[in-house]
Amino acid sequence: MLQMKLCGDLILREKCSPVSDITPAILNTMDEMVKMMHEQNGVGLAAPQVGITQRFLVMMDPETNVVYRMINPEIVFKSDETCVMEEGCLSVLGPDGLPVYSNVRRPESVDVKWTDENGKEMSARMSGVPARIVQHETDHLDGVLFIDYLSGVKREMLMRKVNRGHK
Ligand SMILES: [Zn+2]
Repeated sequence: MLQMKLCGDLILREKCSPVSDITPAILNTMDEMVKMMHEQNGVGLAAPQVGITQRFLVMMDPETNVVYRMINPEIVFKSDETCVMEEGCLSVLGPDGLPVYSNVRRPESVDVKWTDENGKEMSARMSGVPARIVQHETDHLDGVLFIDYLSGVKREMLMRKVNRGHK
């Protein structure tokens, strides 16, 4: 059983190491992460969120319901054009145990390269919602959370809610 790591857990701040070998354990973990993501109505989950500091993640494009399992994902291009979208995270919960949301500005589209669950090299240009999700999830692999993009006051207000939730 995987356990969700919550904001405040230092494992979420670690830089994850590349996967050198796609083991059955990693594939099983990704399957469990997909299950967990669906159960919690999320659209993405990165390995450190379940306590594993390796570079892999799962995500779903909510428009097509396509699920991606990405190993060693890398964003190789970010558009100059940016947009604001509301983000939440399964590791950043409020007092009701549900994610807290905040607007974040990020590049509108990105090019992503990754290795899929069969060891195949993949790449895609993503824009809009999937671009947003893949940026949020790859950030997790570098120990970055969406709250890091918020201005001081906004972040403080959000963290007050989050911290109360964890007591
Ligand atoms: Zn997250």
